[in-house]
Amino acid sequence: MPELPEVETVARDLQRWVAGATIAGAEVRWARTIRHPQPPERFEAEIAGATIRRVDRRAKTVLLHLEDGRVMTVALRMTGALIVAPAGTGEDPYARVVFRLADGRELRYRDVRKFGRIGLWPGGGLRSIGAGRGARSRRIAEGTTTYRIGEVFSGHGPEPLSRSFTVERFAERLARRSAKLKSLLLDQSFIAGVGNIYADEALWRAHLHPLRRADTLGERDVRRLHRAVRQVLREGIANRGASFSDYVGADGEPGANAERLAVYRRTGEPCLRCGRRIERVVVGQRSTHFCPRCQPEPVASEPA
Ligand SMILES: [Zn+2]
Repeated sequence: MPELPEVETVARDLQRWVAGATIAGAEVRWARTIRHPQPPERFEAEIAGATIRRVDRRAKTVLLHLEDGRVMTVALRMTGALIVAPAGTGEDPYARVVFRLADGRELRYRDVRKFGRIGLWPGGGLRSIGAGRGARSRRIAEGTTTYRIGEVFSGHGPEPLSRSFTVERFAERLARRSAKLKSLLLDQSFIAGVGNIYADEALWRAHLHPLRRADTLGERDVRRLHRAVRQVLREGIANRGASFSDYVGADGEPGANAERLAVYRRTGEPCLRCGRRIERVVVGQRSTHFCPRCQPEPVASEPA
């Protein structure tokens, strides 16, 4: 499943290749891919003629900012991919939405398992999102005109690579939580964009056991974890993301980060630091990989 580095890679590719391009028309081939507006025919009509001004990312969602201020969101979820295809290239049976660009190219939304969702929203309000503390649970009224782009992300936590994500802020947030570190890193309302791969990698790098309670971390632990989260995400971006099955960049090519990971899916292989075999446990139904020597198990009597 694409996490922050993979989605960032796709967004940067698209910024380079389709910023400035006009969408001549769109064809929705799988109706449920369209989250908003409904029905999909309305989506097709509303996106036709729009020019893409800029492409970036929030959490695990690609944002295509249009010239007229509207924003198209693409949540890739499990197997979604956005691929720029030159004119006249072969049909893709897994293309769920095809955007015809005015210059003859196509932007294809490909999704084998069909969990991804695309929305087209009035703009505005995005800047304020994630600046507040915790998840303000605003109700989202599907299909109404009051539904704005900011509300799509109202439940999301801070962006770990943003300047406002400081050690102090992270320490404050961790101290208030008794959840296990692994579960907390996966919680999108706690921190945005981190998934199973980068949570395991960050905990290994920070020498922290996945089952450690957040509110038991000392100042040095917090510093190490803060640095580790940012490092693993930055390296993931530099290597164009990790491909285990379907993830590809907008060039249709897999990323190179999978073979550079330290623990994720390396069960039984030697730890890169100490040589001990990497172990796997299940935390909150998610496979979790760690080194039993470098990441010592929390002691039950540890002070809260
Ligand atoms: Zn180790």
